[in-house]
Amino acid sequence: MINLCKRVLGRKIKKKSHQPSSSGPLVLTRDQHPVSRKLMSDSALKVLYRLNKSGYDAYLVGGGVRDILLGIEPKDFDIATDATPEQIKELFRNCRLIGRRFRLAHIVFGREIIEVATFRGHHDSASPKEKSCQKTSKQSEDGMLLRDNIYGSIEEDAERRDFTINALYYSTKDFKVYDFANGIADIEDRKIRLIGDPETRYREDPVRMIRAIRFATKLNMQISTETEAPIKELGSLLGNIPPARMFEEFLKLFMSGKAFENFEQLRKYDLFRYFFPVADQCLEQKNEPYLEDFINLALKNTDKRINNEQRVTPAFLFAAMLWYPLQTQVKRLRIETQLTPQDAFFAALGEIMAEQQRSIAIPKRFQSVMKDIWILQDKLERREGKRAYKAFEHPKFRAGYDFLLLRAEIESANDDTDSSNIQELAKWWTDFQECSADTQQQMIKTASSIRPSSRRSPRKRRKPKAKVSESSS
Ligand code: ATP
Ligand code: MG
Repeated sequence: MINLCKRVLGRKIKKKSHQPSSSGPLVLTRDQHPVSRKLMSDSALKVLYRLNKSGYDAYLVGGGVRDILLGIEPKDFDIATDATPEQIKELFRNCRLIGRRFRLAHIVFGREIIEVATFRGHHDSASPKEKSCQKTSKQSEDGMLLRDNIYGSIEEDAERRDFTINALYYSTKDFKVYDFANGIADIEDRKIRLIGDPETRYREDPVRMIRAIRFATKLNMQISTETEAPIKELGSLLGNIPPARMFEEFLKLFMSGKAFENFEQLRKYDLFRYFFPVADQCLEQKNEPYLEDFINLALKNTDKRINNEQRVTPAFLFAAMLWYPLQTQVKRLRIETQLTPQDAFFAALGEIMAEQQRSIAIPKRFQSVMKDIWILQDKLERREGKRAYKAFEHPKFRAGYDFLLLRAEIESANDDTDSSNIQELAKWWTDFQECSADTQQQMIKTASSIRPSSRRSPRKRRKPKAKVSESSS
């Protein structure tokens, strides 16, 4: 990269415009950049070669080029071509066409997917025929692009991309890198900069605000002043993003080893609320003494696990974000209604989940793990008779136990009986897993009925009584 800087900057990059230049792209020849086929996946190369051989233009674009220039291993490889999705499909048996908003081809090689996109054109450059065809491009009243399927040239495609550093194209025909929007200069300056007018680009797709943050933390770069400026004002547009897309963005932000930094940045720009409105409100009002520390610890823990290549589940983070708000809700219901602790727990759970689903569509399989983690908190307290073994054999025991450890670490900061009990309980379970069957028996016998808190969650799911629905509506 240092060599790249020298060679490229030595060539004097023209004054930055951050718009694709009318005089054509900056072109780096093979000896001027480090992008080598050795650093690309065989599948990506196969796709590029076959498209080229069939007479189409095809380039590696986006993260594949950007990350190699930065000396990072790309997460995946994206390709841009002048072949239409249908033409791509004809060339590859392992191709499926996806997306309505953006029609794309996915070429599937086992677990690897190469995403191939047809060059996008300007919305206003659609031919009259295309314009009359409702399938091509559509904008909402806010300027949000509901569909963007107008095809164009590579220059237009570059202009439709989000950030300058993502508009770099590499060709396997001539091994050159084509820079249409001063992306190389921004890589040198470590700047995340939107192509075009920031406000318009955010209005077209508000997710770009989140992407700006994600790339800044992932690549250790700064968001440029003009790209940063409209974020606070336009943040509310994220409320219009479908919850399913927010889930995808949640995974990219929180399951890639930078969860803690992304959380901090989302809060700084006041965007966290569009992911977790209930947790955000509690954080803002500072009415949950443990919540912030608990979220911080859970996120740091997740990052550590990812960086050590250990398994993680998004369900654990969802459970962590909402655990203390859930406790408060249970308490409120207990005060306001005659519900049993068990019924209050499930009523509160139902309310919290319904509210959360409005922001992020959490797939059912993760919802069920979240609930297991929460329910296990109670099961881990009750160890009499066969209960300890039952809890230990629960398929989600490990997640529940890890969750208990985190709680104990955070709640231990508090100097009361509950906190010392939860620490004892956590230690009990740590010992229980490590000792012999005989000692386990002994531990169960002597387990005093330490119940860390009055916030009890129930053992078994029972249908809430009629009163529940009244009180929760
Ligand atoms: P990574 O895969 O490492 O997260 P990436 O830059 O490859 O980063 P992708 O989401 O894979 O990101 O998208 C590939 C490319 O498609 C981007 O580099 C960018 O050029 C373009 N792109 C993706 N999302 C948008 C968007 N919302 N608006 C405009 N262009 C986009
Ligand atoms: Mg990518």
